[in-house]
Amino acid sequence: MKNTRLISAALMFLFVSCQQNDSIQDHIIQEDVIEHVELIRFGFDLNSFHVVEGSITSGQVLSEVLRPFGVSATALEIFLKESRDIIDPRKIKPDQGWLALFSNQEDSVPSYFIYEKSQKDYVVIEIADSLKGWSGEHPSETRLRRVEGEINNSLYQSLQDQGANAELAMTMANIYAWTIDFYRLQKGDRFEVLYEEEYINDVAVGTGRILASHFNHKGKDRGAYMFENDDQTSYYSEDGSSLKKAFLKAPVKYSRISSRYSGKRFHPVLKRYKSHLGTDYAAPQGTPILAVGDGVVTKSGYTGGNGNYVKIRHNSTYETQYLHMSKRACKEGERVSQGEVIGYVGSTGLATGPHVCFRFWKNGQQVDHLSEEFPTSEPLNESQMPAFKALVNTYDSLLRVTPVAVDDAL
Ligand SMILES: [Zn+2]
Repeated sequence: MKNTRLISAALMFLFVSCQQNDSIQDHIIQEDVIEHVELIRFGFDLNSFHVVEGSITSGQVLSEVLRPFGVSATALEIFLKESRDIIDPRKIKPDQGWLALFSNQEDSVPSYFIYEKSQKDYVVIEIADSLKGWSGEHPSETRLRRVEGEINNSLYQSLQDQGANAELAMTMANIYAWTIDFYRLQKGDRFEVLYEEEYINDVAVGTGRILASHFNHKGKDRGAYMFENDDQTSYYSEDGSSLKKAFLKAPVKYSRISSRYSGKRFHPVLKRYKSHLGTDYAAPQGTPILAVGDGVVTKSGYTGGNGNYVKIRHNSTYETQYLHMSKRACKEGERVSQGEVIGYVGSTGLATGPHVCFRFWKNGQQVDHLSEEFPTSEPLNESQMPAFKALVNTYDSLLRVTPVAVDDAL
């Protein structure tokens, strides 16, 4: 990992600053490199140039910006034609910055003109007899940030109030997707998060990974710690158990797959291609159908095609649906646990014999659950625990929560 050294340096720094200052609510790590950043930018030592800065004004085109610097419209046109891969004149917008670098203060024509495409990307134009250009990007650095908050309205709102990126709410919702229902957060729920933020020239440009967090939902604290395990990065609770849960392999015991998922399937009776967006499990009439994971029943109803059917939302990513039931055994809005009986096998709707058509939804799209790669739900093994415990202690001291006695939990 390219950032590992930076992160450990930042961790040390945060650790020290945490101990020194008890009142800090929101840490931003800053290494003392500001002087450096200001000297070397765009690949130039700006101190050795006379720099004129400006920004694109409304309706301004590049030729208008460059004309006062002695660059003719013809020269610019030739350059733009040859440099389509680095600069698109149609994408020049107001407020984008530019710099002209003069080798000598007395010069009327700069040696370089730099156009800032975005916070990260820029284009350098070397001004000589002809124009020559190249693109560059500012190096980004990863800093650690800690944010804590209380839910008043929503997690999204609380994070915004703390000046944190809203992306963080999505990331947290994913980490806790299997343990906390983010649709049912309560006023007074609390959280603390330690996460990475990408900076370019001291400006935050994006949220990175969450390293650790605590979420107190309905008075119950749930820690989540990032740990790299066999090249896979997962989140574990204090005792080394995974925050993810596996789905049951099938919604009925002792069944057989009578038809697999297929995007396109030749229908023998209709004699045309038809897709089958589910997996059929044939089982005797009346066999209990089980929820493959914890969740909330979002549909329990009847349609001509589906017959009696149930749909369950497991988290913000996954939903499952069970068709052709003889009888339903759950109501809309009800919370169900993994393995709970939600209905019974039948052949209601468009079904030729008793079976469950099991449909699996990922981010609103139907997918083949048999070919899905699910995140690991295995707990850490004993040999990994010492390293994990050390990490938990470090992260918790950074989060400044009372460290959980990991030994007691085991
Ligand atoms: Zn089916």
